[in-house]
Amino acid sequence: MNAELIFVGTELLLGNITNTNGVFLAQELANLGMPCYYQTIVGDNEERLSATIKQAVERSEVVILCGGLGPTEDDLTKETAAAVCGRKLVMDETVRAGIEEYLTTHGYKITENNFKQALMPEGATVVPNANGTAPGVIIETETSRVILLPGPPGEMIPMFKEHIRTYLDKLTPGTIVSQMVKVCGIGESLAETMAKDLIDGQKNPTIATYAKTGEVHFRVTAMAENEKEGLKLIKPVVKELKVRFGANIYSTDADTTLEKAVVDLLKENDLTVTTAESCTGGMLASRIVGIPGASDMFKEGVVTYSNKAKRKYLGVRKSTIVKYGAVSEQTAREMAKGGCDTTKSDACVGITGIAGPDGGTPEKPVGLVYIGVCVCGNTLVKEYRFSGNRTTIREAATSAALIQLRECLLSYFSEVTFGKDKKKK
Ligand code: ATP
Ligand code: MG
Repeated sequence: MNAELIFVGTELLLGNITNTNGVFLAQELANLGMPCYYQTIVGDNEERLSATIKQAVERSEVVILCGGLGPTEDDLTKETAAAVCGRKLVMDETVRAGIEEYLTTHGYKITENNFKQALMPEGATVVPNANGTAPGVIIETETSRVILLPGPPGEMIPMFKEHIRTYLDKLTPGTIVSQMVKVCGIGESLAETMAKDLIDGQKNPTIATYAKTGEVHFRVTAMAENEKEGLKLIKPVVKELKVRFGANIYSTDADTTLEKAVVDLLKENDLTVTTAESCTGGMLASRIVGIPGASDMFKEGVVTYSNKAKRKYLGVRKSTIVKYGAVSEQTAREMAKGGCDTTKSDACVGITGIAGPDGGTPEKPVGLVYIGVCVCGNTLVKEYRFSGNRTTIREAATSAALIQLRECLLSYFSEVTFGKDKKKK
């Protein structure tokens, strides 16, 4: 069963917003094993939207529209889709009551156009929206299924995960079973080489790789008659990936991010952490704080941009900075150790580097970053040479810091000695 995606919104056409929903939905369809041959962006224009939907329902069995479900005049997706499918719009009293309740509990003033969202195409299925007022809509015709989703990702993504994924899964023959294997600390090309024979040789299950900064994700997907059979197919492949990537695998759960894995590791072991950042300017702290419950293990985050701040907040010695420079192995080491001491944390990550575009020298080029990680008195400093622009260098340094912290924690737990400052807790 083939699908097609239509994104509605003039702001998308003008480039005012990025079509992140497109990335999400395309990946979801691929994971469901549902081929998607077309993606269209169309503005808030009834005539062009209507023509786009007409063409889509003629050539695709599943048509997903995203955006334009709001209460305002320029939101015309539902009206237009209903017209193309030959359905009248009727007031759905349950939806109307739901909207009234949502707006009242969230303290919004109700206006008459809010109830425009309670008008539903006759015979359509209403899909609940837990994060907004615009419900999703499924219109089933003889030849196709037209699915309308809200534009805001905070509404669309949960709705898709909770309702639409299961709906689409039922339409496809058999079942798709997939398992994620998330690897960190190994570069993309090396990781692909390490799994090349598995990737090349497989048809069912297939292995898809996705590279992220500092990470490579493998998705093992099997097509089978039922879930049990699917799991049987993917199990040996996942096992083999585990053998090959070992401790570099930080999770096999699709929703677990690298920072979540690190936060969990700290929490499980009852350890606290502090961040001492220079060139990343708080990006590491921000990724940690992005995980709910981080307050259990995150003590402090300092941005020590100037030399003076490194001395004042972390106790880095003036002589160290004068002798070796602010971007040096020695400074990173003192930042990490000093951060533990001044904040009484079990662990501290110190990051110092040159993000550019200026400030590089032949000895210390742009992209040179030192990361020091101190865990219960053991400090490891690593030198990195990242490439790219200021943003990509800072992002790469942040990911590297999380990976190095994880590595240091695992080494500490398994009593592996690194660095020369090893002290038993
Ligand atoms: P609303 O009730 O907020 O009007 P809507 O369903 O009518 O929702 P739109 O008006 O099309 O949706 O878009 C609302 C907002 O959702 C946009 O301003 C944008 O921030 C976000 N958005 C819409 N489409 C996309 C997309 N394809 N990718 C990412 N964000 C999007
Ligand atoms: Mg809108």
